[in-house]
This record gives sequence, C-alpha cells and structure tokens, in this order.
Amino acid sequence: RDYKSVALVVGVTGIVGNSLAEILPLADTPGGPWKVYGVARGKRPSWNEDSPVEYIQCDISDRNQTQSKLSLLTDVTHIFYVTWGNRETESENCKINGLMFLNVLEAVIPNAHNLRHICLQTGSKHYVGPFQFFREIEPHDPPFTEDLPRLELPNFYHTLEDILFQEVAKKEGLTWSVHRPDLIFGFSPHSLMNVMRTLCVYAAICKHERAPMLFPGVKELWNCYAVASDADLIAEHEIWACVDPNAKNEAFNIHNGDVFKWKQLWNVLGEQFGLEEYGFAETGERISLAETMKDKGAVWEEIVRENQLLPTKLEEVGAWWFVDLIFGGEVSIPSMNKSKEHGFLGFRNSKKSFISWIERMKADKVVP
Ligand code: NDP
Repeated sequence: RDYKSVALVVGVTGIVGNSLAEILPLADTPGGPWKVYGVARGKRPSWNEDSPVEYIQCDISDRNQTQSKLSLLTDVTHIFYVTWGNRETESENCKINGLMFLNVLEAVIPNAHNLRHICLQTGSKHYVGPFQFFREIEPHDPPFTEDLPRLELPNFYHTLEDILFQEVAKKEGLTWSVHRPDLIFGFSPHSLMNVMRTLCVYAAICKHERAPMLFPGVKELWNCYAVASDADLIAEHEIWACVDPNAKNEAFNIHNGDVFKWKQLWNVLGEQFGLEEYGFAETGERISLAETMKDKGAVWEEIVRENQLLPTKLEEVGAWWFVDLIFGGEVSIPSMNKSKEHGFLGFRNSKKSFISWIERMKADKVVP
C-alpha cells in the first residue's frame, strides 16, 4: 500500500496512544493513508491485537534497546509522544522523562530522513505545577493561556519541551507542536492515570457490595465548573497539528470546550452502573479512595471472575492516588481560544464523552 504518512506512536497502549492507534489508520484521517508503528514496554495486549498498528515492544528508558529497535524505522514521518514515567519526586521525573524522550529522538531523527513533525503531549500541570507541589504553590490566574511564563519549579514538562526545541533545531524543516490536555477521559487498561477507569472500578465495587457510592472529592469540586479532554479529541488535535501549517511550532491547550459539574457526572456514573445510592457525604471526613479501596483486592478478583472480565489486578485498574489528588480542590480552566484561532474547531460534549468511555470499558470487559 502507498502510504502518505508514517506515524510512530510512543505509548501506543496508553490513554491517548490507544485513540491514535484507532484513528490514524482510518480511511478519512487527515494526512492519510497512515502507516502506524506503536511502541510500549509490555506485550501487545489482547484488546489491541486486531489493530493494524505494527507493534514494537521496547523500553524507551533503555538507550541501547531504543537505538536498536527505533533506529530501524527509517520511514517515520511523524512522531506522537504520548507517554511518561512516574517517579517520587519531580526532579526524578525530569531525569527519567528527559532520558526517555531523548532516547527516542536520538534513535529516530538521524535515521528517519522524511521525518517532518513531532507532537509532544504534556498537560495542564504546565500551569499549576507538578503533583509534588500540587495546591502548595500559587498557580497562574486562570483561564490559562499558552503564553503564560513557566512557573519557577522543577517540572518534567519543561524538560521535555527543552529537549524538543534542542533536537528539532538540528534538522532543517522539522516542525513541532506541544499539546496540553486537562483531565483525560479515555479507554486504556494500561494508563497510569485513568480517571474514568478508576471511577468505573469504584462504582462496580460499590454495586457489588451494595454500598453507597460516595464522592471521594471535596465540596468545592462537587459544585464548581470543571473541564475534561476526550482522548479521541486529543488524538484529532495532534493529527491536526501534523497537517495544518497554522499549527506548526506552537503549544496548544486541548480540552472538550464545554464545562460540567462533577455532581452531574456522579449521577451519570450511578445510573450507568445501576446503583441505588450515590452522592456527596455531607457529614464526616473526606473519603480517600486509596484508604477505602486498600483491602478490596479480593472483592475485585471476585467481580472479575463472576463477570468474566479482562484479567486485571485492582492496583492496575484503580489509580486511587490519582483521583484522591485531583479531586482535592477546585478546577482551574485552561483557555481554548488559541486552538480555535489557529483553526482547530473540534469539541466534545463532556457528558456524552463520559458515557461513551463507560460504554467502551464495559464493551471491552474492563468493568462489568
Ligand atoms: P499513559 O499512562 O496513558 O500511557 C503510557 C503509555 O506508554 C503506555 O502505552 C505504556 O505502556 C507506555 N510506556 C510507559 N513507559 C514506557 C517505557 N519506558 N517505554 C515504552 N513505553 C512505555 O500516558 P498518558 O497519555 O496519561 O500520558 C502522556 C502525557 O499526558 C504525560 O505527560 C501526562 O502527564 C499527560 N497527561 C495525562 C493526563 C491523564 O489524565 N492521563 C491528563 C493530562 C496530561 P507500557 O506500560 O506497556 O510500557
């Protein structure tokens, strides 16, 4: 087949990687027909087996492995970097994530002679600071615009951007774009931070135990306007940046373009899982999911067995730490003006997006 573009999706089984793997090979995807290589550390998962992606198992934190496997991909025209490594402190995050990204660029840029564009995905922590300092520092005043100066804190997003600028400058004509999603709604049993999957698992456990599904966040979050970024929309945004000259060499926020309240989505979650009782606990202390779920491994095993779900361990599917962290305060909203002004008019209805990913997770037997 005669391909017009060749994608290298680094993190292909992740939350956005999976959306790219599904959208890029479609007949009407801009820039296509696309050939797609996809990289992840783990074995190709069963839910990805039918995809036309050429799967490459490679640990990009290993320089030699990355050189030997990715330097062979001489036909790559576009890189989608949608992965990360999580460590205790932000300075360790800067080190490991910088290493991973540099390993990929050093293996691909000198060998892929037709390489044209690199999409780097970071996120809204660009404006509020890394998890290590979450809610401890004074962030910028929202709505966040892409031209705000960097916060003076270590942040692996800065490290990634700096490596991007430095490496791209070495090759004439090579362009870049940085994509900054907010909280991502998507499918992926392999994602480190998947709020949808975590909430679905919580709902399934509450249902199984006939327990009320109480909101594990603070009242301010329950009531405030919030935003989310649909994983397919982010993939469309990244593909747009590959093909539209107006999107070259720029950073863009990307979220659904509407607002919602968690108290509304909580009702949706309760309805989707057929729960009888759900809501905000007006009395008592804030619920910590890490605490509430710490002894539920055996319950999850039973749910998986009874419903013939994809075999998973509770600690793999429930990113409790993540929900505890992000549900700890009000949401600051990034602006979507720059994307629109540069020509990206995509959007999602967040409630419909929320429901569609619940349905997807049920259809793929991640949750009952
Ligand atoms: P995910 O955690 O969903 O996906 C990670 C992917 O990378 C998986 O395919 C994983 O598979 C693979 N991977 C991880 N480590 C390696 C490695 N060493 N070598 C090769 N492959 C590897 O990623 P996200 O989309 O969540 O994260 C991408 C960026 O988006 C990050 O900067 C993150 O901070 C940002 N972001 C994420 C949000 C979210 O809600 N998830 C919100 C806003 C921003 P395997 O484990 O098999 O290797």
